[in-house]
Amino acid sequence: MIYMDNAATTRLSGRALEAMMPYLTEQYANPAGTYSFTHASNAAMEKARKQVADVIGATSAEIFFTSGGTESDNWALKGTMRANEKKGRHLIISAIEHHAILHSAKALEREGFEVTVLPVDADGVVAPEAVEAAIRPDTVLVSIMAANNEIGTIEPLEAIGAVCKRHGVIFHTDAVQGFLKVPFQAKTLGADMISISGHKIHAPKGIGALYIRKGMKPAAKLLPYIMGGHQENEMRAGTENLPQIAAFGVAAELGRKEQKHAAEHMEQLRAHIVERLQQELPGVVFIGGGAPHVLSLSLPGYRSEVLMNFLDRNGICVSRSSACKQGRRSHVLEAMGLSPKVIDGAIRVSFSRYTTMDEADALCD
Ligand code: PLP
Repeated sequence: MIYMDNAATTRLSGRALEAMMPYLTEQYANPAGTYSFTHASNAAMEKARKQVADVIGATSAEIFFTSGGTESDNWALKGTMRANEKKGRHLIISAIEHHAILHSAKALEREGFEVTVLPVDADGVVAPEAVEAAIRPDTVLVSIMAANNEIGTIEPLEAIGAVCKRHGVIFHTDAVQGFLKVPFQAKTLGADMISISGHKIHAPKGIGALYIRKGMKPAAKLLPYIMGGHQENEMRAGTENLPQIAAFGVAAELGRKEQKHAAEHMEQLRAHIVERLQQELPGVVFIGGGAPHVLSLSLPGYRSEVLMNFLDRNGICVSRSSACKQGRRSHVLEAMGLSPKVIDGAIRVSFSRYTTMDEADALCD
């Protein structure tokens, strides 16, 4: 089996698995306890928090663990809009956001909030000028993703962050596909909140985090989303998922150490596939691009599911476009203005640092 769907999820790294084992077996204490048996749990949680924070140059106090990218996105949008109702009820997102953002925005609309959905250009890029033009006196939040999950396009976040800062608008980015793929530091990005997820970086499924910039003043500008106990500095209730948090920390640290090398490796895979297909597959169209792990391509005249099933029968896993929607045309490809023929023949190939050049050749063959 050749796995080329790493934008959907990645294999768990052996070191991350090892890191979680003590907290699934002997070290089962609840980190919230006060007796000494809890100390190791607490220390492990704070170690992992720092490991995750270090990837984006944040402080540990700015990292809040969640159940994944979807929860982080829901929290950022709903928590911010509901906390700032007095300031305004206007939210700006882009047309190519993940459904965790799109559906959260739709839910907010049903609560009476107003949403502006910004278009993208033919490469899937949101113009910072368009963000600026859409900002109104009652705009509370702008949420634009870091790297797109279907086409890998990297958004100009620093410029968008600067626009938001100039207008005093809160800025969130869904960096689930950008984290450890596209180098960025929280401070230079200018984001107030950043969503990240573990299972895209070789940690287990069901763990993620929301970075909340220190100056964001939680509770005043952002309401907790999950209510209950006092965990995560009163911002995200629920007994912490310590085994997965420990694994997330280790995966983040390993990813940080390998990031440059992994990105170069994946760029080489991508360049090699593009070169071969351009020569050997007449009519192939490459779509978007930017993040090293995603290659979106189309064979106009063929249907994605046929291509995908054909590759599957040959032991190669790729996805239609996004793993999250079955049987519907991609909203991302539609927003880019691509022709129905190109959209209907599109597949997404996505790599990890474990993907080999032989596997890339097998895909081309
Ligand atoms: N945002 C983006 C851009 C994604 O690609 C994904 C997952 O595919 C998510 C959010 C959701 O993350 P999770 O699967 O951790 O809930």
